[in-house]
Amino acid sequence: MSGDHADATIARRVRRLETLLEERGVLTGELIDEAIDAFLAESSPANGARVVARAWTDADYRARLLADGTAAVRELGFMEGSYQRLRVVENTDTTHNVIVCTLCSCYPLRLLGPSPSWYKSEAYRSRVVREPRAVLAEFGLELPADTEITVWDSSAETRYMVLPRRPEGTDTLDEAQLAALVTRNALIGTAAV
Ligand code: FE
Repeated sequence: MSGDHADATIARRVRRLETLLEERGVLTGELIDEAIDAFLAESSPANGARVVARAWTDADYRARLLADGTAAVRELGFMEGSYQRLRVVENTDTTHNVIVCTLCSCYPLRLLGPSPSWYKSEAYRSRVVREPRAVLAEFGLELPADTEITVWDSSAETRYMVLPRRPEGTDTLDEAQLAALVTRNALIGTAAV
């Protein structure tokens, strides 16, 4: 993925492999583009929202999700074959989590869809680490003064997703209705839900 700090060596190696396979007629540029398009077509915040709704309605799933995010999202068919590790961090009534990639724009695409431009901006990447409370307030998320905020910096191997708090008054909603409440920004941590 471009803009990924997975590292330039890997990117070069992949490019070389692509060229070799194309030269030998094993693969074509179009096939590679089709594979990327298919990946992007299946990448949506609706996927992350489904994971959240399952965690809100199934305590055992929630425990598995927090213990091993990668394995738990694979149960729902996401991130199969991915070399990356997913860590899911849970908001509580005293703690709030927000994700960033300070180096570039690493992001769990499959679960959150294409990343918003502000996520990749220099301003967000530098400021959310130094003054998360102020940045979240600019997103309209005013947290109580005693809420502890943790900022998770993505790395080449580890991607993060926030598990938001289930809103009050949603006891009668089913899993699909709950999933519809969850926004992309909540999965990043710049919205409550
Ligand atoms: Fe990155």
